[in-house]
Amino acid sequence: MLYYSLNQNAPRVNFADAAVSGQAPDKGLYFPRSIPKLPDGFIQNIRSYSKEEIGFTVMKPFVGETINDIDLQKIIAETVNFNFPLVKINEQIASLELFHGPTLAFKDVGARFMSRCLGHFNQQRDQAVTVLVATSGDTGGAVANGFLGVDGVNVVILYPSGKVSPVQELQLTTLGKNITALEVNGNFDDCQSMVKQAFTDPDLNRKLLLTSANSINVARWLPQQLYYFYAYQQWQEEKPPIICVPSGNFGNICAGILAFASGLPVQHFIAACNANDVVTDYLQTGNYQPKPAVATISNAMDVGNPSNFIRILEIFHHQFNELKNKVSSISVDDNTTRQTITEVFQQFNYMLDPHGAVAYYALDQYLKNTDTGNKGFILETAHPVKFPETVETAIHQKIEIPDAVQYLFGLEKKSIPLAPTFSALKGWLMQ
Ligand SMILES: *Cc1c(COP(=O)(O)O)cnc(C)c1O
Repeated sequence: MLYYSLNQNAPRVNFADAAVSGQAPDKGLYFPRSIPKLPDGFIQNIRSYSKEEIGFTVMKPFVGETINDIDLQKIIAETVNFNFPLVKINEQIASLELFHGPTLAFKDVGARFMSRCLGHFNQQRDQAVTVLVATSGDTGGAVANGFLGVDGVNVVILYPSGKVSPVQELQLTTLGKNITALEVNGNFDDCQSMVKQAFTDPDLNRKLLLTSANSINVARWLPQQLYYFYAYQQWQEEKPPIICVPSGNFGNICAGILAFASGLPVQHFIAACNANDVVTDYLQTGNYQPKPAVATISNAMDVGNPSNFIRILEIFHHQFNELKNKVSSISVDDNTTRQTITEVFQQFNYMLDPHGAVAYYALDQYLKNTDTGNKGFILETAHPVKFPETVETAIHQKIEIPDAVQYLFGLEKKSIPLAPTFSALKGWLMQ
């Protein structure tokens, strides 16, 4: 499989080169040259396959010959070594729980797959890769955990001091080894712009092999397709599901749409957004107008110009009507999100995190406005314990801390304080 740049001005590359460089030299996103078709009988017999077999069948065409079958099987087995249960909330709506990985958010799968791929490709190189990433919370933890102990890869995470939750900070700062946390005396936008500048700085790029670990990287984006296959394996209804995805950078939903394009049965997709409603607006008006991000209680979705949306347009060959027939979008405000957490807990005894609550409300509205008899599921992208203040206030009780997080409170935080400037970052990276 070859990948081309969506800016159309860079050479085609294989999976390995796309994964190591992240972005094409013309700053475009890489996209697969063709969308593979699932093997005959795969969907009909999906219940008889293991998670690992599904993972291999789906990912193999995208990886091509860049990783041999035995190593790819091993990478997939390590990537998906936890559960992805589809849990019924009520008669119409189920929740695909994607928070059973080590950092309790769905980004674990992409981070684990990408880290192992880079580790694999690096066996043939003599220079270590430096993964540089800015985080507002979840990405950093998933990347730190996913890359921990991977040979030949050093990870440097920039996070805004005092602006991530206590659990998130511990997930970033307690691992040590090849993971370094830089605690920036500024906000997320500072961290982001420091990292962006680093990627274009000639001195740094002469000294280090830098790469990024966000969802524009194909090795992080593509394995997210697997969630949708694991959900379908557990889907018991006659009609295909309506799938509602809480969306920020639109990497996750775009992976689902790619799975659909390769043959997975899906009735309809809903992109659930918070007040950051660029795509909701676009689907109503046909006019795509990026805006500055606004802060909400579902902060992992606070994105004003979603980088993966262009990949969705590409899947639909930029045909607005085709896209609109298959994908809807609803924007949900913070008060409605809080109220949804309260109501779903009271009525169905199910605890949603703020991101899942945005999705629940959007799906519920959609079902109320369409044929009776339709059913669907949401992607529950994070465990409620990652957002204790919002959730505990909404449900009027304490959340039990799961073991996967409890042990963190016994570990020592190690971070390096840094001024919020590029020269401070450069100085640190050069020494
Ligand atoms: C990153 C994230 C999202 C948004 O996912 P995208 O792929 O960027 O659309 C949603 N929920 C949680 C909890 C996240 O961490």
